[in-house]
Amino acid sequence: MNVPFIAGNWKMNGLRADGLGLARDLADWLETVRPGVQMLICPPATLLSDIAALAASGPLLVGAQDCHHRASGAHTGDLSAAMLADAGASHVILGHSERRSQGEDSALVAAKAAAARLSELRPLICIGETLMEREAGLAGTIVARQLHDSLPPGLDADSIIIAYEPIWAIGTGRHADAGTIAAMHALIKAELATLLPGGGDVRVLYGGSVTAANAAGILHLPGVDGVLVGGASLKPADFKAIALAG
Ligand code: 13P
Repeated sequence: MNVPFIAGNWKMNGLRADGLGLARDLADWLETVRPGVQMLICPPATLLSDIAALAASGPLLVGAQDCHHRASGAHTGDLSAAMLADAGASHVILGHSERRSQGEDSALVAAKAAAARLSELRPLICIGETLMEREAGLAGTIVARQLHDSLPPGLDADSIIIAYEPIWAIGTGRHADAGTIAAMHALIKAELATLLPGGGDVRVLYGGSVTAANAAGILHLPGVDGVLVGGASLKPADFKAIALAG
């Protein structure tokens, strides 16, 4: 049985002073309080190496928010998995809906996940349906297809994490209800079991308007192995409360 996995996605937020302060505060708190969870923060790439350095001797994990699918080359503005690993990342978020909405499809996410593994980064792969897809009764089909198409062959179940993030719940203050989360996580775990050896053991996180107030209810649902937190991960008291709710 894994301990809950509490991940923070800072998205495009955090200048040096605030970002380093937030990371240092969390790293110190995690080491002192030891809340019995694994904690990952994914700051913007500009802060990655400094935050990885300050977290290096403790339990706080540090990840990136995306990587390119190629190892190197003429890709202005992009970062390779090797560069992110070199900067100190252990994980990388891939296929977030905010990137899929810019034209990134599941095949590209799978290529990025393969590149991440070559550099020993652990991909945290995001999947989730739109409100229109849910209302059309297609949520399960869409999410199963995204999952299937976003996983490269040969993955080891220990090396990946899946985040179910319904798009309509991201940044809206409207998290999915307990029944929806439990049903979607059960579906995702059943799919994972068919897609890779030991796939039923892959951790599946929920993301979308997780707050200090709703975290305990979500984290204790069957099939929920942790949460991927956006806005509340930038508020130290809230993010700590979410970790304690696990
Ligand atoms: P919010 O927690 O702000 O809804 O964001 C969720 C998310 O997109 C995490 O990746």
